[in-house]
Amino acid sequence: EVPTPLDVDPRRRILGLETEFGLHFDAPNARAVTPEEVAGHLFHSVVEWGRSSNVFLTNGARLYIDVGAHPEYATAECDSVTQLVAHDKAGERIVHDLVARGEARLRAAGVEGSIYLYKNNTDSAGNSYGCHENYLVRRRADFKAFASLLLPFFVSRQIVTGSGCITRTPQGAHYSFSPRADHMWEGMSSATTRSRPMINTRDEPHAHADLYRRMHVIVGDSTMAEPTTMLKVGATDLLLRILEARLRLPELALANEMQAIRTIAHDVTGAATVELADGRHMTAADLQESCLEAVRDHLDGVIERTDEVDAILDLWERGVGAVRTQDASGVDTEIEWAIKRRLIERYRDRLGCALDDPRLARLEMAYHDVSPSRGVFNRLQADGLVKRVVSEQDILNAQTQPPATTRAALRGRFVTAALASGHDYTVDWVHLKISGTDPRTVLLKDPFRNVDERVDVLLAALDG
Ligand code: ATP
Ligand code: MG
Ligand code: MG
Repeated sequence: EVPTPLDVDPRRRILGLETEFGLHFDAPNARAVTPEEVAGHLFHSVVEWGRSSNVFLTNGARLYIDVGAHPEYATAECDSVTQLVAHDKAGERIVHDLVARGEARLRAAGVEGSIYLYKNNTDSAGNSYGCHENYLVRRRADFKAFASLLLPFFVSRQIVTGSGCITRTPQGAHYSFSPRADHMWEGMSSATTRSRPMINTRDEPHAHADLYRRMHVIVGDSTMAEPTTMLKVGATDLLLRILEARLRLPELALANEMQAIRTIAHDVTGAATVELADGRHMTAADLQESCLEAVRDHLDGVIERTDEVDAILDLWERGVGAVRTQDASGVDTEIEWAIKRRLIERYRDRLGCALDDPRLARLEMAYHDVSPSRGVFNRLQADGLVKRVVSEQDILNAQTQPPATTRAALRGRFVTAALASGHDYTVDWVHLKISGTDPRTVLLKDPFRNVDERVDVLLAALDG
């Protein structure tokens, strides 16, 4: 039986984050190994476990090797921002846990060296890779018009959600809000590789196609800091709630999104203005302030006030204020570009060097190293210099347990049981399948459903 949109609580939303990790192998005295070879060894234990280098884990997540030998972790379907932060961090730990075995295998193959995994957006050769955000929205005929209302928000949110970077140009180096901004080529389209839109409109809902759409946002930076990830996803979700209630957002359409995102990225003073379609000129802080105000206007209306909503609004407000006043001291333990800039400035003072010094480039890279012992962000966090949103225990749980309140719970149970039974099986976002001589498949088109008798029957078949 097909649910109608009215059966679904409009306050619920499925959220997911996909992270592509940068992979680097450092082997000063060894023969050259290709990234594909390194990725193969890194994923050997994954293949042993799940008979494929593209697997779904017991926590409901997908782990695979993407084009260009990038390991990718796509979180399970979450239904709260805080839960998503825990599952996103769990992904970092899960890929890091592959490193020691990957290095051992390389050593056995005669290549001694260290594997580095970076949760960042560009490698040393300037290639860009991404962090994709996924938001379930109710299907509507005017999806493109609907999504395009969010473009001014996406173009300007980097001043509070950007991960920050040193940009090197022939004229010298400067600090920018977002490493991803220079790699965006248009507002919306269905292609990911050649054109790089901010919102990918490829229609692949991983759910009832007549009820839902999955809004696929690829303009964001990967973020290490939990509060920044919370704000990145949380602020977007709040604006979606307004739009989905068919309420209006302020009219902020930009004259040229691609130009605007670059202009904003490269001026950390926040003074640069961008042109709107109606001829007005506004700063990124003005644009963000308008979005923030729209959300405040609907508090206790279409936006129910919770501790999570309060935390998102509080950081959003302080983040915009930090740019306006040019004083980041109130957010430099929470907002990634400010955390990183403070670190870089401290080292620069100590070394007495210029911003384009290669030692600072190495520091910037090391910031994103997922290793708990080596990664500079992880060390800052361990020293209490970065605020937390979730606990270590939340992250540990998320490494093995799916979100309990979404479809991911069914997938997690199935994967655990199928592995224990030794049956052949296949899984994707909407299918659970026992393969072999007596194949059985269950189709899960409702991502909000965490109980299903058909899955109980499937689990019983695994036992038999
Ligand atoms: P690609 O990696 O090629 O872009 P893709 O966009 O389908 O493919 P996956 O890597 O498979 O991406 O990840 C899908 C993400 O979407 C996951 O984080 C998952 O939790 C999330 N997701 C799954 N179903 C839904 C849904 N119905 N609505 C929103 N998000 C969803
Ligand atoms: Mg993906
Ligand atoms: Mg994707």
